[in-house]
Amino acid sequence: MVDVTAPHASLSVEDLRKRITTNLQHRQGVGPKEATVADVYKATAEVIRDYLSSSWLDATRRMVEGNVKAVGYLSAEFLIGRQLSNALLNAGLTDQFEGAVKELGFEPKDVIATEPEPGLGNGGLGRLAACYVDSLASLGVPAFGYGIQYRYGIFRQEFDGQGRQVEKPDYWLSEGNPWGHEDFVRSQRVSFGGTVVDGENGARVWKPDWSVRAVPVDYLVPGYDSGRVNTLRLWTAKSYDEFDLATFNRSDYMGAVIPQVDAENITKVLYPEDSTPQGKRLRLEQQYFFVSASIHDAIRTFYAGEAQPDLTTLPDKICFQLNDTHPVIGIPELMRVLMDEYGIDWDTAWDVTRRTFNYTCHTLLPEALEVWPAKLIGELLPRHLEIIKAINAQFVEELESKGIDPEGIDRMRIFTDGPDAQIRMAYLATVGGSYVNGVAALHSQLLKDVTLKDFSAAYPDKFTNVTNGVTPRRFIKLANPRLSDLITEGLGSDRWIHDLDELEGLVPLADDASFVERFRKVKDANKRDFAAYASDKFGFSIDTGTMFDSMIKRLHEYKRQSLKILAVIAEYAAIKDGSADVDEIQPRSVFFGAKAAPGYAMAKLTIRLINNVARVVNDDPAVKGKLAVYFPWNYNIDLAEHLIPATELDEQISQAGKEASGTGNMKFALNGALTVGTLDGANVEIRERVGADNFFLFGLEVDDVEKLYADGYDPMKYVHADSRLRRAIDMVADGTFSNGDRNAYAALTSDWLTHDYFMTMADFTAYMDIQKEIEETYQKPDEWARKAILNVAHSGFFSSDRAIEDYLRDIWHTQPQR
Ligand SMILES: *Cc1c(COP(=O)(O)O)cnc(C)c1O
Repeated sequence: MVDVTAPHASLSVEDLRKRITTNLQHRQGVGPKEATVADVYKATAEVIRDYLSSSWLDATRRMVEGNVKAVGYLSAEFLIGRQLSNALLNAGLTDQFEGAVKELGFEPKDVIATEPEPGLGNGGLGRLAACYVDSLASLGVPAFGYGIQYRYGIFRQEFDGQGRQVEKPDYWLSEGNPWGHEDFVRSQRVSFGGTVVDGENGARVWKPDWSVRAVPVDYLVPGYDSGRVNTLRLWTAKSYDEFDLATFNRSDYMGAVIPQVDAENITKVLYPEDSTPQGKRLRLEQQYFFVSASIHDAIRTFYAGEAQPDLTTLPDKICFQLNDTHPVIGIPELMRVLMDEYGIDWDTAWDVTRRTFNYTCHTLLPEALEVWPAKLIGELLPRHLEIIKAINAQFVEELESKGIDPEGIDRMRIFTDGPDAQIRMAYLATVGGSYVNGVAALHSQLLKDVTLKDFSAAYPDKFTNVTNGVTPRRFIKLANPRLSDLITEGLGSDRWIHDLDELEGLVPLADDASFVERFRKVKDANKRDFAAYASDKFGFSIDTGTMFDSMIKRLHEYKRQSLKILAVIAEYAAIKDGSADVDEIQPRSVFFGAKAAPGYAMAKLTIRLINNVARVVNDDPAVKGKLAVYFPWNYNIDLAEHLIPATELDEQISQAGKEASGTGNMKFALNGALTVGTLDGANVEIRERVGADNFFLFGLEVDDVEKLYADGYDPMKYVHADSRLRRAIDMVADGTFSNGDRNAYAALTSDWLTHDYFMTMADFTAYMDIQKEIEETYQKPDEWARKAILNVAHSGFFSSDRAIEDYLRDIWHTQPQR
C-alpha cells in the first residue's frame, strides 16, 4: 500500500468549476462557452489566489502576533517560474483543477502553458531565491521575500540567420498579472539626492531632492502541505508627480509627464549581467529603492499602530538575509532609519543593525564583487555616504585595536582613500552583519582562504557555509511526474516530497532488476516527451535512441561551454575521417541552453559558434545518427523543467575554483542524470554523496589551477600535445563553421591559443578521455541506470528545505511557527 500524504484540499471539482465559471463571467467578462484558454487560465489563477488568501491573511496575522522571528530574504532577483501548477500542487488542488477545466472543455496542460514565465532574474542566484521562499513556506517559517517587480525581465533570446543571439524585450505583463496584487495603500516613499544639514542636538538631517513611490506587488507563496502562505513582495516604482501642471500650462504635454516616466524607469528593466555587474547609477537606484521600501515595510508590519515603536527589538522580529551584495545598501539605510527617523544613538543602532543582517556571498570572481564610486553614492544618497564613512572609521579603529598592521587595514577598508574613492559592498556586508556564508563547502572555504581572507582571520566566527539546494516540488514532483510516481511506489510513501532524505530508501532498489527496468522506461518516456516538446517548440527532430547530453546554464567563459563545443567538433572530425570506430562510438544528442549578457562579446561569439556547429553537424549525412547538436533558444525555467528529466549526461565542467555552487547540477542528479564534472562548487559534495563510482570526474583541481597560474600558464603547450584539439581549433579558424569566413571566430581562437584564462586547453585531453569511459558505461544500460538511481537516492541533501534548515539553525536562529 502506498502511503500518500500529499495535500488534498476539500474543495471539489464541481466547486472549483463553479468558481472558475463565476470568475469568467464577473471578472473576465465572458461566458464559459465563449471563453478562450487564456480566459480560463486567468480565471483559474484568480480563483486559486482568492482561495489561498484566507490562509495568507491568517499566516501574516500569526506572524505579527506571535513571537517567532521572521526572515526577510532580500534579493534583487526572484526567478520564480510559472505559478499556476506550483500553486495547485502546494494547495492540494491539482486533481480538482484537471477535472474542472476538462469539464469546461480545455486541456489542463494547455491552460498551464498559457501562463507567461516571469523572467525576474538572470539565472542561479534568482532561482535560488525562489527555491528558498518555497522552502520557507513549506517548512512553516514566517518569511517575506523582498525584491523588485521589473516591467521587463530578462530578455527573450532569439537567434538570427547567422546563429547570433538577438535580445528581444520580455513583455511579460502584457496580458495582466493575476498572481501579483498591487497594494497601493501600503506604498512607501523612497527618496534620493539632495543634501545633509545639521539639525537640533547634533542630529543630521537629509533634505532629499526627489522621491518615488514604491508600490508593493504581493505574490502568495503557498507552502507544500504546511498550510502556511507567505508573501513575496516585489516593489514597483510609481511617480508622486503624475503630471506637472506648470509644464503642461506652457503647452508642453510630453514634458509634463516626464516626472512619471523618470520615476517609473527605476523598476523598468532587469540588468541582464550575470556574474559581472555594471556599476550604473540606475542599478544603484534600484538597489536602494527596493531595500529602503522593504525595511520600512517590515517596520510598518511589526510595529503597526505604535506611535513610538521601540526599534531596538527589531532583531527579535525579523532578520534580513542579503542575497549577494545587491541589497547591501540596506545596512547604512537601517542605520539612518534608526538614528534619523527614530532618534536612536549610534552604538545602539549599530548593534541592532549588525544583529539584523546576514550576508550570502555568491562568487569568487573578483570582478563580480560590487564596488560603487563614493562620488555616485554621495550624489544619490548623501546621508548614507556619511554613515558608510563613519562605519569605515569605526571599523579601522577596531582593526587597529586588534593590532592589525597598516597594510592589512588598507586591504580591508570599506571605503578606499583617494580621489576615486570606492565603496566595497562585500566588505560593508561582512562588517555590518552577523554572519557571512558561501554557497557550497568548497566555496565557503575559498572565501575564507582567498576572497575574504583578512576578514576571516580577524573574525573567524563570522564565516560559515550553507550549501545551496533546490525545491523538490518544482524540480522533481512537477517537472518529472513519472519519476515521482516511481519514487513514491519504490519508497511506499510520498513523504520524500517534504523530506528529501527519504530518497536514501531507494538505495536497495538500485539492485532490483524490475525497478531498474522501470527507471529506464521512465527516462525513455521523458526523452520522447522532450523530443515532442522540442519538435513543437523549436522544430527539432531528435533521435530518442541517442544519449541525451545537456549543458544548460548562463554562457560564461568560466563555465566553459567552449570546452564542450571543442569536444563536439573533435568528435565530429573523428567520425568524419574514420579515426573514430563507428561501431564503438555512442550516438549522442548534445543540448546547449544559454543566454549571454548583451555586452559580453566573447560569450555571444561562443553562442554563434555553437549554433553554427549545430548547423554543420546536423546537415552532414556523414555523421547522421551518430552526432547531433541542438541549441534551443531562450533557456528559461520552462526549458529546464522539460530537458532535465530527459537528460542522461549532465555537463558541469567549469574551471575548478570558479563556480560558487551551481544548482543546475543538483536538479540533474535528482532527476537521474549522471554528471561529468570538475571538482568545483557543489559538484564536490554531489560526488561525495553519490559516490565517486557514480560521477565522472575529470580535470584540474583548485590547487593545480593556482599552481599553473603561478608558474605562467601557456595554453600552446596543451594544444601541441593533443592533435584532436589542434584539429578542432583549426576547423573553427578555417571557416568550417562560418561559410568559409576565416575571421568570424578570430577573437575566440586567439584567446584559446594565447590567453585561455580559464584553462580550457589544459583540461581538454582529460575531458576527451573521460568521454570514453562515459560511453563504455552508457553501453551497459543496466549499469548506467543503477548509477543514475544511486544519484537520485543520495541527492536528498540538495533539497532547499535542508538548506533553509541550515540557515535557521546556524544563521537566523529562528524556527517554524506551529
Ligand atoms: C537552475 C537554473 C540556473 C542555474 O544553473 P547553473 O547550472 O547552476 O548555473 C539558471 N537558469 C535557470 C533557468 C535555472 O533553472
